Amino acid sequence: NRQILLAARPSGAPTAENFDLVEREVPTAGPGQMLLRTLFLSLDPYMRGRMNDGPSYAEPVAVGGVMTAGTVCEVVESKLEGYTAGDIVLAGSGWQDYALSDGEAVRKLDPDAGPLSYALGVLGMPGFTAYIGLLHIGQPKAGETVVVSAASGAVGSVVGQIAKLKGCRVVGVAGTPEKCDYVTQELGFDVCVNYKDADFADQLAAACPDGIDIYYENVGGAVFQAVVPLLNTWARIPVCGMIAHYNATALPEGPDRTPLLMRNILTKRLLVRGFIIFDHYADFPAFFSEMTAWLKDGSVRYREDMVEGLETAPEAFMGLLEGRNFGKLVVKVAGP
Ligand code: NDP
Repeated sequence: NRQILLAARPSGAPTAENFDLVEREVPTAGPGQMLLRTLFLSLDPYMRGRMNDGPSYAEPVAVGGVMTAGTVCEVVESKLEGYTAGDIVLAGSGWQDYALSDGEAVRKLDPDAGPLSYALGVLGMPGFTAYIGLLHIGQPKAGETVVVSAASGAVGSVVGQIAKLKGCRVVGVAGTPEKCDYVTQELGFDVCVNYKDADFADQLAAACPDGIDIYYENVGGAVFQAVVPLLNTWARIPVCGMIAHYNATALPEGPDRTPLLMRNILTKRLLVRGFIIFDHYADFPAFFSEMTAWLKDGSVRYREDMVEGLETAPEAFMGLLEGRNFGKLVVKVAGP
């Protein structure tokens, strides 16, 4: 049983030294347990937060502990009522080949509902995050302008496509020309702007002639700074993620812009609302049936960035924090 452990807490960007690949015995299921074999493993930006110590909305991974992750697994052996060998489940068994489970936070998957790995992406946590953040907090109305950052990624790609379905003008922000082309040509966004271009702020302003009604925040940093002056009165900002800051070890230098931001929040009556997707699972069935239909009729498209082999996970994860992924990053650990 190969496992990838957190070897040491990173300071700044994680490196190979922060991870340790070890080989252990495959455990056996005791009464009330089942043995899971990992087929697909999801790599997500939140895992950078789990590598840090300190207070957060979730417990950190212990040094020497297995890195956490959502997984799609096959039940190998079951002494747990309701599960039999061969069942396919969504679990949180982490960066390892095998794990024991008592069934907590495990959900059976219908193998006929689409590719199994979709349960980690468009039909799972990231897709659901896009849906809740945009619809519940963003409250899009036809004709409004929606800007979404990390637009080619797991969450952003879905946000923009749902916003199009709601009749909005959709402007993506992404980090390469190839990602921008994909976002406009394949996903149907109206425009996509590359935040690494020197004149990014001007390009964003030109892309939003009527201002911005919803900014779906995935990144923070320079993208957020360029968005603020373009926000309309009554604009909404679902604060989903801040990936530009996850490797930061100190506050940015320069003048404190908080008063300027607060003044904008006040005078433009902005709604700025953070959310953690855990809190919303009561609405998952509604999301799931709607998203399944959108995928089926082609109104939502989905791209995976699939890497092969558990041992590739650390490198792929480091790449995620630098934009080297193109689409939802998933590790194929074993064949079904
Ligand atoms: P993505 O698939 O979008 O991958 C991350 C992308 O972020 C990279 O490909 C890169 O794209 C972009 N990025 C990386 N560094 C920077 C930077 N410095 N500035 C701007 N963009 C950057 O990831 P997800 O869709 O899974 O996650 C998107 C966001 O949603 C993350 O912030 C994540 O933490 C958050 N999230 C929040 C949840 C919640 O409950 N609130 C749940 C799930 C996700 P590019 O090449 O375009 O720069």
